Amino acid sequence: MGQDAPRRIVVVGGGTAGWMAAAALVSVLPSQRVQVTLVESEAIGIIGVGEATLPHLRHFNETLGINEADFIKATSATLKLGIEFVNWARKGDSYVHPFGDFGTEIAGLPFHQAWTRMRAAGKAREIGAYSLPVRMCAANRFDRPAEDPADFASRFGYAYQFDATRYAPFLRQHAEARGATRIEGIVDTVHCDPETGDIERLDLKDGQEIEGDFFFDCTGFRGVLIGQALNVGYEDWSHWLPCNRAIALPCEKSGPTPPYTRATAHQAGWQWRIPLQHRTGNGHVYASDFIDDETARQTLLDNLEGAPLADPRPLRFTTGRRKQFWAHNCVSIGLAGGFLEPLESTSIHLTQIAITQFIELFPVDNDYTLERESYNAHMTREFERVRDFLILHYHATERTDSEFWNYVRTMPVPDSLTEKMALFRQTGRVGRYQQGLFLEPSWLAVYLGQRIVPQSWDGRLDTIPEESLGQSLTTIESQIDQAMSRMPDHDTWLANLADVEAETRHG
Ligand SMILES: Cc1cc2nc3c(=O)[nH]c(=O)nc-3n(C[C@H](O)[C@H](O)[C@H](O)COP(=O)(O)OP(=O)(O)OC[C@H]3O[C@@H](n4cnc5c(N)ncnc54)[C@H](O)[C@@H]3O)c2cc1C
Repeated sequence: MGQDAPRRIVVVGGGTAGWMAAAALVSVLPSQRVQVTLVESEAIGIIGVGEATLPHLRHFNETLGINEADFIKATSATLKLGIEFVNWARKGDSYVHPFGDFGTEIAGLPFHQAWTRMRAAGKAREIGAYSLPVRMCAANRFDRPAEDPADFASRFGYAYQFDATRYAPFLRQHAEARGATRIEGIVDTVHCDPETGDIERLDLKDGQEIEGDFFFDCTGFRGVLIGQALNVGYEDWSHWLPCNRAIALPCEKSGPTPPYTRATAHQAGWQWRIPLQHRTGNGHVYASDFIDDETARQTLLDNLEGAPLADPRPLRFTTGRRKQFWAHNCVSIGLAGGFLEPLESTSIHLTQIAITQFIELFPVDNDYTLERESYNAHMTREFERVRDFLILHYHATERTDSEFWNYVRTMPVPDSLTEKMALFRQTGRVGRYQQGLFLEPSWLAVYLGQRIVPQSWDGRLDTIPEESLGQSLTTIESQIDQAMSRMPDHDTWLANLADVEAETRHG
């Protein structure tokens, strides 16, 4: 692999992960640096679930030069302001984990400190009343955040809910137009250098041979390169996150399109509801140790909001991660690298981080041991932090109505999470990570939503009269009212986007 020749990167797999990787590589790195070939097999197909995303995907699309309206149209996307969790801490509970802040700082301290004091005095509403995106969800409103950071309406983010079978073909067009080459075929044999162990060549079933310098394993749960050829093991986290199966089933839409995903807890798992423009995606994620497949299927059917549009589709998975994400000259991305169950829509995001991180560390030399170590350490941290955040949803429950809830409520959890929960409960402080996906407002939303309420607040607030804190809370509520009064409902926003686009293109 000479330093001057472009690196030949072979991406195996044409699902969301494979085409995200190929599209990013050819969009961000010049053709003098990389030559990208993607191998995929229509006979194997893609997993075709994964419809809810996080706000960071907007940045990914922008970096690739993708027009938002084109993307929304191509994938029948809707907008997502957060996730509503129903029945998690107790049956009958509901809260939203929004993409945005709660309130604004009061006396230079995070909003929830003053809120905790006012709540203890019986003078605050529930925390969601002070969040613009939570209120937008409740009112079915949507608009893009204001660009002026001084404007209260700038204080939230948004993501997409899209048809998972349409994003990869959309990215394929983008990638091929920028020089990526696609090869149809099934990888049959992986040849490794007997001395270094690096992958040298792939033989396809139809006799084609593909050589490369780097290989991206995007073959989904199969892990054809990283697992089957390089024997990199898998760290199983099922003891903390016992859900291991899902049944997916789209249904007809009913009523206005909500700008959020819903996750409703059931007896041994939970059900997603993801509204798209043309249908609603549903799925029941459950733990097979605690419920049988037929009961799980029936639970899903009993809780649909519209007529089914297909047969229920069963899926199996093991929550965990590859012991090394990057081994030899092979980087595993997407489901091949690991899977954390879809409760917080993190999988596509972890794929995005993996791609971005590889590009950041793109080897300039033939010895890239340091880059590989740095990459593996970074991805391990990202996975572990998402893992802890997911465990919190299950562990911080008061439910005692099934074996499943009794298990997750009483199971030992990672020390990193135990410490964070104790810190919040005692002091209202959210332990800070230097890096990581979910920041303070996310942890706050889930702690409070799961009924972990701080026992005290920051003592510096005690010098401020209650009336003054009360006034701050009222001001925030009226700022939210004002911001929302300018916003259309979600369906109107989507319809306007289509009209504006048509005018721009034809007029
Ligand atoms: C129940 C469930 C719900 C989910 N919900 C969400 C969600 O809401 N949000 C989210 O972000 N993520 C979600 N995910 C994850 C999401 O589906 C995946 O991250 C995403 O689809 C990427 O998949 P992939 O490209 O890694 O694998 P796949 O889609 O499985 O693609 C694998 C590719 O590899 C190819 N391939 C395999 N073997 C070979 C071979 N031998 N030769 C050649 N090609 C081969 C296949 O043809 C295919 O093109 C969910 C996952 C599950 C299981």
